This record gives sequence, structure tokens and C-alpha cells, in this order.
Amino acid sequence: MHEENRRNMIDSIFIEEGSDMSLNNENRASDIFGRLTFTGDVMLKRLPPEVFMNLERTVSADQALDPMIANTVASAMREWAVEHGCTHYCHWFQPLTGTTAEKHDAFLSPTGDGNAIEKFSGAALIEGEPDASSFPSGGIRDTYEARGYTAWDATSPAFILQSPDGIGTLCIPTAFVSWTGEALDKKTPFMRSLEAVSKHALRIVKFFGDDDEVTQVLPTLGCEQEYFLVDSDLAEQRLDLAICGRTLQGTPAPKGHQLDDHYFGSIPNRVLSFMSDAENRLFELGVPVKTRHNEVAPGQYELAPTFENANVAADHQMLTMHILHEVASQHGFSCFLHEKPFAGINGSGKHNNWSISTNTGFNLLDPRNETHSNLQFLVFLCSVIRATDLHADLLRASIGTAGNDHRLGANEAPPAIMSIYLGEMLTDILDQLESGKTSSTKKAGTLDLGAQQLPKIPRHSSDRNRTSPFAFTGNKFELRAVGGNTSVAWPNTVLNTMIAESFDWFANELTKRAGKNPTKAKRNSATLAVLREVVKTHRRVCFDGDGYNEDWVTEAEKRGLPHLKSTADALPVLKSKKSLDLFRKYKVLSNRELRARYEILLEQYVAILDIEANTLITMIRTQILPAGVRSQAQLADAVAATRATGIDSPATDALLHETIEAIEGVVQTLMTLETRSRCTFKSHEKAMNHSHQSLVPAMEAAREAADALERIVPADLWPLPTYAEMLL
Ligand code: ADP
Ligand code: MG
Repeated sequence: MHEENRRNMIDSIFIEEGSDMSLNNENRASDIFGRLTFTGDVMLKRLPPEVFMNLERTVSADQALDPMIANTVASAMREWAVEHGCTHYCHWFQPLTGTTAEKHDAFLSPTGDGNAIEKFSGAALIEGEPDASSFPSGGIRDTYEARGYTAWDATSPAFILQSPDGIGTLCIPTAFVSWTGEALDKKTPFMRSLEAVSKHALRIVKFFGDDDEVTQVLPTLGCEQEYFLVDSDLAEQRLDLAICGRTLQGTPAPKGHQLDDHYFGSIPNRVLSFMSDAENRLFELGVPVKTRHNEVAPGQYELAPTFENANVAADHQMLTMHILHEVASQHGFSCFLHEKPFAGINGSGKHNNWSISTNTGFNLLDPRNETHSNLQFLVFLCSVIRATDLHADLLRASIGTAGNDHRLGANEAPPAIMSIYLGEMLTDILDQLESGKTSSTKKAGTLDLGAQQLPKIPRHSSDRNRTSPFAFTGNKFELRAVGGNTSVAWPNTVLNTMIAESFDWFANELTKRAGKNPTKAKRNSATLAVLREVVKTHRRVCFDGDGYNEDWVTEAEKRGLPHLKSTADALPVLKSKKSLDLFRKYKVLSNRELRARYEILLEQYVAILDIEANTLITMIRTQILPAGVRSQAQLADAVAATRATGIDSPATDALLHETIEAIEGVVQTLMTLETRSRCTFKSHEKAMNHSHQSLVPAMEAAREAADALERIVPADLWPLPTYAEMLL
């Protein structure tokens, strides 16, 4: 049920019961929200009305950017930025590295007569020309071909980033392309995919009713972010956390989340003060953060914003990750967004809540009350089902990273088999569709809690299922398999493109079967016939049961669903003809652009594992083995001293033997790891397979041996902060 409907229903229950609760209980948000963004009131106040209107039309994506207004906008932006302490501006973009990039330019311009003025031209606002040679291009460019361009994305508000000591930089969100016009970033294809969704979803909306006001359909996005906080004094003592963002060695603490006492527990004061600061910083940047709570693992927390138009939401997600890191360090914390910073306990993901809405604000994935007769909703729902069945492998590939491999399928995160959870009410409607006639919608009703003093509360029409990677949650789809550390732009580019194809397919089928100027009855019978076929063919991708259960793996294989266990298994999907054709057809990525992305993803996967292996080798050689040897020496001294007194001590002897054996275990696994980490390969693909099949197991073996040593070395000799110290 739509959250707003639900709220209204709660309100109406109170009113029916004669409560005097005021419905007019909202306060105006304080002035802090959006204070550092060039949007809304700021724009209205600083731009001439005709320029403001012109820019607004671009922002609401009704019309292309008018370059004639750029000078006026640039000059207003500069004035505003300078008043907020900025000396520089930058084009802020998202190269294929996984982070954001910025090259700062001063507003200050010498005039030639010994003076200088502050200047920011329209040309500098619209276009920048950073050297592209040091960003990954996946072979699109040779390193000597350096030219790249950034282009202003006026639909995402410019903002001011203030450093902790007050240095402000005006940041202009931009796309980043090469001299050939090929995308070198995440934003460009993402924005192209939004257009593909809009174009084809609009055809479906128009099929069901011609509302002139509806001119666009926009994906909406809200991303929940899980993260860990560790005291910086401890985290900084560990090379693995500093370099890789995750521990490569470490014995689990005696207490993890067995008692389930951390989840939603009361938030420690020091953490609360961090959260409050981070939220304020994000509010100022216009990021509408809404929810905060403790997550499952000790030291783990979550933050979620209110959803926004997908392009802005994706930019805001990048900003959120940046601010979390920055504010954490001001509070003496290190923040970790890695998918698995600590072995053996819950990892961090990003729940990617996705829906589609018309420009008039109508959520097209809201089932509303009489769902079985809401054919437009059912077409949108079944488009997602069809797309997920046809491209489950691609969706899986879109979230594949070295980090996410530790999480997916690891029994506390969604399995690597992509399936959809629908819940009872919609599953019942699919049954009805399949049988050929739809007649009713299961009602949710209210919950009576059995005590007069407690309110009756409305119930959702379906329960939750936290084991599903892609769940329909009331009025949106929640892709839960996205990693905690990754940009959401790429998975959403894939999601949008594959779903746009199904919108296109539905629009074609519906118009073909209903014929020209169909009557309502003709339109409905054509729709039901198409829906029935789609449900029959594609509902195998729907699964409401326990995704953690081994039986599901067997069942999924029986249904013919792809089970791509690791990133190395999944990434090659990107170079399949099916994927290349899909992205080209919807003009999201040319074949060359997609192949380039594939190469870059392989390269990154290999590089990450290479760095991890070398970090682990260094830690073992320079910290872990020396600690073991010191412990051995202490024990040897004790054994010798005891023998000298003429007393036999088999227990002390045994301790010494145990330590010597543990050290041997570490040395042996280290040798294997070193040998394997030195291999080189001619192609990225060979290197990826080696990393996955040979390097990862060697790292795991070395870790196990080092963990065994940690368990017996005296605490005062162990050089690394332990899991217990860092998390409890
Ligand atoms: P939960 O943890 O129960 O999934 P949260 O409240 O933490 O719920 O997060 C739900 C997320 O879904 C929020 O970020 C919210 O803004 C987002 N969301 C709600 N409705 C939509 C929608 N129509 N489109 C996209 N995201 C949405
Ligand atoms: Mg969620």
C-alpha cells in the first residue's frame, strides 16, 4: 500500500474514533535544508525571471539546455558561491573509477594590468576540458589521446562543498566524455537510460488514457546505506583497513550478532552525535536523509534518504558516501562502506529502492485499492517481471564486484540468484491473470493487538521477505543486492535499460492487439491477453520463499534461472550479444562503450585482489610472523627455564609445539600466496580467472592460518587491533 495512503488510513482511524489529533501538524523545515545548493529559492532570488523559467524547464527536462542563459546563470552562481566563501569552482563528475573526480579552477582571473577580477563565464559552466588520459577508458582512448570533456548537467543542482576548515568549492555536476563523444563516466549512460524508460513508459501511459499533463515518466530512487564505524585510533593501526577498507585477517569476536541485540538498539551517544552532524551536512547539500538506525552487526549502522528523481538521487548517494567518511573522521571514527569489512558478521549493502513516476507525481508502481482491475499497474509490474526474467544474468553482473563476492549468497545477504518477491496479494493476482480472469484483490485489513489501550493498526497487504534480492515492497522495487561501497549509477543504468525494453515490448504488443482507436472493452481484453502470456512465460523468476535455503538453489536451477555465483562468473555476461544488442538498441551504450566497461570492470577486479594479496603478505611478514616468533621465543625461554629447575612441564612443552606448528602453517600458506600473487597474464580475462580461482583461495588459507596464530599468541604481543577491540 502506498505509504501516504497508509498514513491517511491511520489518520482516518483516529478521526473515526473521535480523536482530536490535528492533521495540520507539520512545521516548516528549518532554513538549513539545501542551504548550500543552487536551486529553488536561491535560484529564484538570484536569476532574472525569464532565465529562471528557462532553466526550470531544462531542470524538469521539458526542454534542452539553452546556452544563451549560461552567462547569466554562471555569474549568479559565482556571486552566490563567493558569498559562501568559495574561491574556486569545479566540474564534479563520476569517472569509471567508482569515486567522484573534481578539478578546481579559481574564479580569480588576472586582468593584465597587475590586477585581477573574479570571473566565471557561461562557457566555463557548460563545458570543461580535463585531461582524460589518467582515467580508465577500457581501450576507448590510447593514453596519448588525452582530450576529454565535461558537460553541465543542469538537472542536478550545483552545490558547495565546504572542507572542515571552511574552504568552499562550487561543484557543478557534469557528464564526462572523450573527444570522440564516447562516455567515460557513469552519469552519461545513466541519463541515457532514464530517457529510454521515459520514452517507452510514456507510450504505455498514453495507451491507457490521454492525460496531456503527463509528458514524462521518471524513475525515482531511494538508497539505504549500511556502514560500519570503528574508532580511528584502532582502525589506523591496521594496514588492511587503511588500504583495502576491509580486514584481511582477524578472529571473530566471541560475541557477534547471536543475541540480535544491536539491530535497532539504542544508538550510542558518540555515534548519535556523528549521525546528527552528518545529517546536517547532508541537509545543507539538499540530501533529504530521513532514517537512521543500528544495523545487525555490532558497530554497523544505516542511513536512508527520502526518495528523489533518480539522477539527483544517484548524485546524492555519491555525496552521502563522501560526507559519511569526512564527518566520521571529525568524530574520531573511520567509516567503512565495504561490503564485508569483518569476516563472519553481517556485511554492508545498499538497498536500491526503485519506482517510476509521471511528471505529475503519480507513482506507476502503486497498486492502489482494487489492484486486480488496475490494468495499467499490472502492465508496469509485469514489465519488471519480464525484464528480470529475460536479463537476470545482466542484473547479477551489474552488482558484481570483488567486495560484493563476500556478501552475495553468504547467508545474510541476498543470494546470487536474481528473483522477485511479490507477496501474497500480488501473487494471488498473478494466479488470477494466469487463469484468465481477474476478479478480486486480497484485502489487508487492520490488526487488532488484543489490548484495548493499544490502537488498531492497518496491516500491509503482504509481509516482508528479507532474503529476496529484488523485492516488491508496497509501491516500489527494492534491489537489495547492490554493494555498500559502489556507485548506484551503474546498477540503475542496467535496471532502467532492461526494463525500458520490456516497456517497449508491452507498448508494441498492446497497441498491435488492441488495434486503432480501441473501445475500452477491446483495450482491456487485449491487455489481459498480453498479461496472461507474460505471466505464464516469466513468472518463474518470482519466488516468495526463503532465499537462504539450499532447496532454492536446486529449485532455481530446475526453473532455468541463472546462478552466477561469483563476479568472475557474472561479468562475462556484459560482452554477450544479448547485452550488447540491448544497450545499443536503447542508445545507452554503444558496443564499444559497453566492451570498454567490461574491460574496466575486469581490470578493477584484478587490481583490487592484487592489492589485497600484497597487503596481506606485508602484514604477515612484518607484523604477524614476528609476533608469532616473539611468542615462540618467550615460550622457549619458559621451557628452558623450567627444565633448568629439573621440573618436567609437558603443558609448557605443548604450548611451544602448538605455537611452532601455527607459525609453520602461516609460513606455508604465505609461500603459496606469494607464488600465486606473482603470476602475470596477457589478458584481463585470464587474470580475473586466476584471481578468482587461485588467488582468493590462497588468501583465505593464509588468513585462516594467521587467525589460528592470533588465537594463541599472547594479547600483549599481538600487533593488530582485534575484532573484539574494534567492534565491541
Ligand atoms: P526499509 O528499511 O523498511 O526498506 P526504509 O524506510 O529504510 O525502509 O527505506 C525505504 C526507502 O525506499 C527510502 O529511502 C524511501 O525513500 C524509498 N522509497 C519509498 N518510496 C519510493 C519510491 N516510490 N521510489 C523510490 N524509492 C522509494
Ligand atoms: Mg530496505
